[in-house]
Amino acid sequence: MTKHADRVTIIVEAGRFPAKRIFPAAYAPPCSRGYITDMKLLSKSSFLRGGLAVLLVFALLPLSGCEAASDAQTPSEIMLTAMDTVMTLTAYGSAAENALEEARGELLRLESLFSATKSGSDIGRINSVPTATTSVDPSTMELLEEALRLSALTDGALDITVYPLITAYGFPSKEYILPDDAEIDRLLELVGYEKVSLGSGTVSLERNGMALDLGAVAKGYASNRCAEILSEAGVTSALIKLGGNIQAVGSKPDGSPWRVAVQNPADASGYVGVIEVSGLAVVTSGSYERYFDVETDGAVRRIHHIIDPETGRPADNGLVSVTVVSEDGLLADAYSTALFVMGLEEACEFWREQGGFEALFVTDDGSVYITEGLEGSYSPSDSYPGYEIIIAWNLYSH
Ligand code: AMP
Ligand code: MG
Repeated sequence: MTKHADRVTIIVEAGRFPAKRIFPAAYAPPCSRGYITDMKLLSKSSFLRGGLAVLLVFALLPLSGCEAASDAQTPSEIMLTAMDTVMTLTAYGSAAENALEEARGELLRLESLFSATKSGSDIGRINSVPTATTSVDPSTMELLEEALRLSALTDGALDITVYPLITAYGFPSKEYILPDDAEIDRLLELVGYEKVSLGSGTVSLERNGMALDLGAVAKGYASNRCAEILSEAGVTSALIKLGGNIQAVGSKPDGSPWRVAVQNPADASGYVGVIEVSGLAVVTSGSYERYFDVETDGAVRRIHHIIDPETGRPADNGLVSVTVVSEDGLLADAYSTALFVMGLEEACEFWREQGGFEALFVTDDGSVYITEGLEGSYSPSDSYPGYEIIIAWNLYSH
C-alpha cells in the first residue's frame, strides 16, 4: 500500500467514513483570465519567475476576451499594508470608490486596536499589564468574544494566549531562537484561553506574563468588516485580499464565480488547484508561511509559526496547509489555524460534527484532500492532478 493510500485507510478506519479517490483528466481552465491567487508568500522575484505572474495580472484587470467589459465592470482598487500584510481590495460599480476608502479606514483602525506589537493598541495595553482590568473598543470586545468561543469549540486548538511562546521563538522580532524544553514548559503555564476574563467592555488575564495574540483571527474579522462595509454601500461584486485571507462579495461582475488558487506549499511558484467561490471567504494557514530552520546533529527541523497549545511546539500532525471555505471570514481564519493544529483525522471529525464550512488539506507527503462540499467547485492544477474527497458519514448509505 502506498503512503498516499494509507491516508485514506486511516480516515475510513477512524471515522467509519469512506473516502473516494479520484484522479480526473488533466485540468484545462475554460478561460485563462480571471484567476485570483494568494500571493502572500511569494517573494517578488520567485513570483515573477513563476507562471502565476500571469494569473495575478489577469486577476485584477477588467476581463476581456472571455468576458465583455463595460463601465460597470471597471474595477476600483486600493492597496495598503496593515497587520504586517499587503492588502488589496477590488470592487466594481459606482459605489466602489467611496466604499473602498471607508474599508481602508476601517482596516487601519482595526490594526491600531489589534496589534500585539504596538504598545498603544488594545492588545498592547492588555499585554503590558495583563492582570489589570483594561477597557477596550467594542470591536476588540466582539473579536475576543468570538475568538474565545471558537477556542472552546476547537477544544483549545485555537488559543489566542499563545503569544508568550510566539515571542520565545522570536517570531515578532524575527530574531529566531529555539527555546529549550524547560523554557517551553514554563511558558505553557501562561497559555490557556480559559484564563482570559471578559467583563462589560473590559479584559483581564489571570497571570502576569500572559499575553494575547490575535494573529490567527484578526484578518478574518477585518475581511468580514470590509465585506460588510462594501455590501452596505451597495457594492455587489468585490474581492478582498488580506494576504492569505480572501473574501468575495458576490460574484465577478459578469456573474461567474471568483477563482481562488491554493498555493502549493512545496513550491511557491505553483498552486495545487483552484476553488471557485461567490460570496465566500477562503483562508489558508500553512507551515510554509513563517518559519525558520534549525540544524541539530546534521538534521534540519522546520520551526513554523502555528503552535500546538498543548505541547508549546510547532504543530506537527502531518499537515502542511489547511484552507477553509466559509461564509464567515473570521470563522474561516480561526478554523484554518485550529484544523492545522488538529491534524487531518481530527480535523475531519471536527468538520463532520460542526459543519458550516468546507476545507482543503495538503499533507506532508503532498496528498490533497477536500471535503465533499468542495466537489464541483475545486479544480486541480495540471501539475497537481490527484486529490481525495472526504465524505460525511451521514451521506454515505452503503
Ligand atoms: P494563521 O496564519 O491565521 O494560521 O495564524 C497564525 C498566527 O496566529 C501565528 O503567527 C501566531 O501569531 C498565532 N498563532 C500560532 N499558533 C496559534 C494557535 N494555536 N492559536 C491561535 N493563534 C496562534
Ligand atoms: Mg487563522
